[in-house]
Amino acid sequence: MEGIGLYIHIPFCRSKCGYCDFASRAGAEHLMPRYVNALCRELDVCAAERLKGSVQLRTLYIGGGTPTVLPAEEMERILDRVRSLFSLTSDAECTIEANPGTVTKSSLERLHSAGMNRISFGVQSFSDAILKGLGRVHMSEEARDAILLAQEAGFLNTSLDLMYGLPSQTMEDLERSVEEALTLPVSHISVYGLQVEAGTPFYTRFERGQLALPADETVDAMYDYLTKRLPAAGYSRYEISNYAREGFESRHNLSYWQDVPYLGVGASAHSYLGNVRYENVREAEAYIECVESGQSPRRIERKPDQSAHMEEVAFLSLRMAEGLSKARFEETFGVSLEEVYRDAIERCTRKGLLEETKTHIRLNSLGMKYGNQVFAEFLL
Ligand code: SF4
Repeated sequence: MEGIGLYIHIPFCRSKCGYCDFASRAGAEHLMPRYVNALCRELDVCAAERLKGSVQLRTLYIGGGTPTVLPAEEMERILDRVRSLFSLTSDAECTIEANPGTVTKSSLERLHSAGMNRISFGVQSFSDAILKGLGRVHMSEEARDAILLAQEAGFLNTSLDLMYGLPSQTMEDLERSVEEALTLPVSHISVYGLQVEAGTPFYTRFERGQLALPADETVDAMYDYLTKRLPAAGYSRYEISNYAREGFESRHNLSYWQDVPYLGVGASAHSYLGNVRYENVREAEAYIECVESGQSPRRIERKPDQSAHMEEVAFLSLRMAEGLSKARFEETFGVSLEEVYRDAIERCTRKGLLEETKTHIRLNSLGMKYGNQVFAEFLL
């Protein structure tokens, strides 16, 4: 079997950020040992029943939540179980998400010794006032320290996340944060515009007119600045929200956009196996109860028919700078990209959003900015 990616979800955080709608909760330390037991049990079942035969992992990604709030012994228990059940390719990319303020030199060393070779820090901003407004547990100095400590602990592949369009954030704030990030030893930077999601404290404040978001033109200018400044500093934009130094693109995340299978375990984790999309039970407690009672936490989320699968492949591939391969499309579906999408390609090219080469179609920089217009054209 071809190597696959494994995602493990850790649904715990030290406190809940005001904008967050991820499957994570604060104040649930008492659930951690039971949660890790359930994770190990789900891993056993996946290895034994779902993926018979030798399964090689090309990538391992531990995300959350905040994986680094788990006690080191619990994290090591998970990693030991993964290694006992699966074999990792010799060059496997093993990423852990971390938050500054939840790591120490020794915890980072333990993670590195346990085989993690990539670390992704949720920094979001280097402005203390903005971090406070977001409800983050760290301040800018802790973010700087954490990144330097990770390097000392042996991590040579470090990523950080930054956000823009944040309450009270000015263009100057963003520029200062980016310049600060560029002084640090990071090989990968992800940038996300704030989305005010229903059900979050930010949403309530937004509804009441109490969230001081920057004007649309400012957010637009922030986006334009990021798309120019990061490449100028040597970070190529390889996906709509992701920039990396050459050779440091996230292989795990690329697999989400390349229509290749991956397995997800833990509360709310998604899997893509045999062209079927699955989603695990979302809440940590419900997930634990489900696994403890011997049931599978996995539900079918979507079983795309051929047209839906074509749309997915188009949307996901077009997120990447390399775009959608004509040969790959034909190999997957037995019909050429031109036959299915000629009109959409022509319309998007005429609007100046899409480029076509002999082998690929891809979004240009304007297309990346207005990706939704292109994706709408690719609906069948
Ligand atoms: S640290 Fe991340 S997952 Fe946890 S609450 Fe904040 S944004 Fe959500």
